Amino acid sequence: MASNTTSADLFAKCAAFDQVEHAKAMGYYPYFKPVASAEETEVSIDGRPVLMLGSNNYLGLTTHPKVKEAAQAAIERFGSSSCGSRFLNGTLEIHLELEERLARFLNKESALVFSTGFQTNLGAISSLVGKGEFIISDKWNHACIIDGARLSYGTMKRFRHNDPDDLERVLSSCPEGVGKLIVVDGLFSMEGDLAPLPEIVELAERYGARTLVDDAHAVGVMGPNGRGTPEHFGVEDDIDLVMGTFSKSFASLGGVIAGDEYVISYIQHNARTMIFSASMPPAAVASVLASLEIMETEPERREHLWANTRKMMHGLQELGFDTGKSETPVIPIVVGEMFTALGMWRSLLDHGVYVNVVIPPAVPPGREMLRTSYMATHTDEQLDHVLSTFEEVGERLGII
Ligand code: PMP
Repeated sequence: MASNTTSADLFAKCAAFDQVEHAKAMGYYPYFKPVASAEETEVSIDGRPVLMLGSNNYLGLTTHPKVKEAAQAAIERFGSSSCGSRFLNGTLEIHLELEERLARFLNKESALVFSTGFQTNLGAISSLVGKGEFIISDKWNHACIIDGARLSYGTMKRFRHNDPDDLERVLSSCPEGVGKLIVVDGLFSMEGDLAPLPEIVELAERYGARTLVDDAHAVGVMGPNGRGTPEHFGVEDDIDLVMGTFSKSFASLGGVIAGDEYVISYIQHNARTMIFSASMPPAAVASVLASLEIMETEPERREHLWANTRKMMHGLQELGFDTGKSETPVIPIVVGEMFTALGMWRSLLDHGVYVNVVIPPAVPPGREMLRTSYMATHTDEQLDHVLSTFEEVGERLGII
C-alpha cells in the first residue's frame, strides 16, 4: 500500500535491513535452521545427520516413551487445546495436578504454571513490582527478566554479573522502606556459570529485599534431587520465588513460578500474561507431568548428564579451549571475535556438529562464543567424535 508522501514510511527501516541477506550470501547465517527430526542427540539438518550440541533437552526426555504416551493420552482425553485463558474456561484439571506436583517438587507452598517460561517472568515480575519499588537485576539476566522489569511500573537497577559487592552497592542506593526484588538466573544460559545464591540471600535479608531465581536451565539438572540451584546451594527456604521453564529438562513448553501461597495467588490474579493468554495445551501439561515422574524415579539420567558434562569440560579444556566460568552442562567456547565464532560454527556444521553461535547483543562484545550444551543421552562415541572435530576445526582456525 502506498504511504502518505508527506511522512516517512514506517517500513523504510525494513527495506534497509540487509544484514541477513549479506550474512546468507557469505554462508554465515546461523539462525532459524530447520531441523527435520526429533530434537535428539542426533538430528537431521539439510538432509544430513548432525550431532546436536545446542539443545536444552538436558535429560533427553523429548522422545522418552512415557512422555510421548502421556502426551498422546492427554490429547485423547482433552483434545488438542484448552482454547482459553486459565482465568476463564482454560483451566483443566491437569493444570491443577501439575501445579500441586511442582509445588511439592520445588518445596514451596504453591506453584502456578504459564504457557511459556518467557511469559512466566514477564507476568510475575510486572505484577509484583509496582510504582516506587525496585527490581535489582544481574546484568547478564535473561531477556524475559529485563522485559518483565520494563513492563512493570517499578524501577530497574542492574548490578555487575555475579558480583555481590556490586549488588550491595545497588541495594544500599535504593531508598529504605520500599519494596525490592532481587532477580537472578540461577544458571546463566550462555556462560553456564551459577549465581552466588548464599551471598545473595544474605544481602537480601540484610536489606529487606525479596528474591526470585530464574532456574530455567537448572531444574532437573542442579541439586541432589534436581530441584535446581537453591537445592544445590542449600538455600531453598531462603529463596522467595523459584521460576522454571518446561522447554528444557521437562521436554515440553511452559513455565512455572513457585513460592508462598499468598504471593502466588496475587500473581495468579494480576499477571497479564496469565489472564490474557491461553493456557498450556493438554499434551504439553501431560509431558511435564511424565517428565517430572521420570526426574524423580530415574536419578541415573542426571548422573549420566553430569558424567557427560565432566568428560566434555575436561576434554575441551585439555584441547586448550576457553570454557569461561562454566561449571554445568552449558559449556561455552569463548572465541571473543564475531567472524571467528561464525567461521567455527560454519565449519563445525560442515563436519556434522551443530552448536549455537552467540554474538552481541546476546553477549557483551568480546564474549562472542559457541554455546555447547549436553544431554544425558549423548553417548561416549558421539562425544569423542565431537572432541576430535573440535580439535581439527579449532586448530585450523587458529583458536587452539
Ligand atoms: N529464562 C531463561 C534463563 C531462559 O534461558 C529462557 C529461554 N531460553 C527463558 C527464561 C524463557 O523460557 P521459554 O523458552 O520456555 O519461554
